[in-house]
Amino acid sequence: MSSDPMQELIDGYHAFRNGRWPAERQRYLDLAKHGQKPQTLVITCSDSRSDPATIFNASPGSMFVIRNVAAIVPPYETDDSHHGTSAAIAFAVLNLEVRNILVMGHAQCGGVSAALDNSIADGVPFLRAWVDLLKPAVDRLPEGTPDAHTLLERDAVRLSLEQLMSFPFVAERVNAGKLELNGARFGIADGKLELLDKKTGKFAAL
Ligand SMILES: [Zn+2]
Repeated sequence: MSSDPMQELIDGYHAFRNGRWPAERQRYLDLAKHGQKPQTLVITCSDSRSDPATIFNASPGSMFVIRNVAAIVPPYETDDSHHGTSAAIAFAVLNLEVRNILVMGHAQCGGVSAALDNSIADGVPFLRAWVDLLKPAVDRLPEGTPDAHTLLERDAVRLSLEQLMSFPFVAERVNAGKLELNGARFGIADGKLELLDKKTGKFAAL
């Protein structure tokens, strides 16, 4: 592996062009001609280790992906601020008409660490206000638990799913049975995925 980061990308591109591209060429052509029609929106962390295309062995065109710090869905707000995550959710639901939204957290999440430890976001513009969105989940952690980080990784996913239901166009489609919401957590070290059981509200390994 090259130590030059741009060279690393270029080497990876060449591997793609020589390897995956010939096999996927027709799919890319079809996607270019007919447009994308992904069925799933994945909302996950920007963390370099929790890449959904890798974890779900995804083909081009199969999932629309939003990545941000800690896979947070912000509250539904209708002011004129620049709501990047909300804009992408709206596009996926209203224009692409995805049928499934998966919020996926992960182990060793730095955004979750920043929500638990105020010093981490010090000197990082924007980060404090962003991870403060996890405060409702931080506040409902069992007091004195030694497992706060892992519990918050899971509860942050539940909170994002709750926030999704504050988007009227999401709630409307969920209630009409046109859209389902799911949660998951990826274990970096063991590569295992936990899914949120909607009946019990608990995460269980697949
Ligand atoms: Zn993370």
